[in-house]
Amino acid sequence: MSSSGDERITDEVQALEAILLKDVVVKRVGDVPKYIIETIIHPLTGDNIDQQYVCVTLEVGLSSGYPDTSPEVALKNPRGLDDMILDTINTHIQDKLKNNLGQPIVFELIGIVRDHLTKSNLPRGQCVICLYDFVDGDLFIKTQCYHYFHNHCLANHFIAGKKYYHEELEKLPTWQQMQVPPYQQTCPVCRCTVSCDVDTLKEAPPPKSSLSAPPFRLTAELKELQMKMAELLAVQVAKGGVVGMGDNGPPLLTITTTPTTDNASRNNVAGSSRDAQPGAGAGGARHSGGDAAAADTQPRPPYRGPYRGFNRRGKPGRRGRGAR
Ligand SMILES: [Zn+2]
Ligand SMILES: [Zn+2]
Repeated sequence: MSSSGDERITDEVQALEAILLKDVVVKRVGDVPKYIIETIIHPLTGDNIDQQYVCVTLEVGLSSGYPDTSPEVALKNPRGLDDMILDTINTHIQDKLKNNLGQPIVFELIGIVRDHLTKSNLPRGQCVICLYDFVDGDLFIKTQCYHYFHNHCLANHFIAGKKYYHEELEKLPTWQQMQVPPYQQTCPVCRCTVSCDVDTLKEAPPPKSSLSAPPFRLTAELKELQMKMAELLAVQVAKGGVVGMGDNGPPLLTITTTPTTDNASRNNVAGSSRDAQPGAGAGGARHSGGDAAAADTQPRPPYRGPYRGFNRRGKPGRRGRGAR
């Protein structure tokens, strides 16, 4: 470590702040100054930020030995990028670091990441609603939180979600209906509030892959899987591990009844005051494993996951994918 090393760090940090302005966050940590530089990197798309489908946060830690030692580099919060692309970027970064010891490197790292994002500016992976990949010709939407869905799928998701909300609302006494927050679209992945025009979305054709897929059949194997999933859901609900949207009921794992071993009582855990929420609505009888759940006649804690699912024909299904 040398003072000239420290000066080189502060010079580079100041240059980054001067050029990237509000796009960079520099944190100074510890007595031995260490800088953590964070910047969200997007692909180059000119001024058209609507065309940016991927992004990632580059975090670089500069400690006192830098630049004579390599900085710690991490890619965080990737959006629209799969592991393969992240691995490729990481390999490229490590090569760069190895070959450029002794030189300020942060700008070059930003450049490397940005080049990769510009080349890979299409969301990778599946639409989590239909589970089909995005293929050429599919119409898809990027939400404000950088999650991706087929327009068709997201439209159906919101239509089903709103219908379900109103069905649950109508079950409540009027005085409770007044207290319920209004319906709000939320991202099926992260539950961030989003705002999408459903009328426009629903004009999109179904995902291309769904058109060539073999017709859906509810096989015995699938039925068995449904039963298992229903049982698993019931266990999770009973443990308070399923949170409803807009749910401002008691905190998780609040026990509102004396615990006993029978199912009916277990299912009342954390249930009572959340029952006031239509948004937190469905009891066990609504989910797909009818037989497994049918034995429970007691109200169970509310489940309202963000994803209600659709059947293969693209119609909103209230009971999850694959249910009849
Ligand atoms: Zn989809
Ligand atoms: Zn999201």
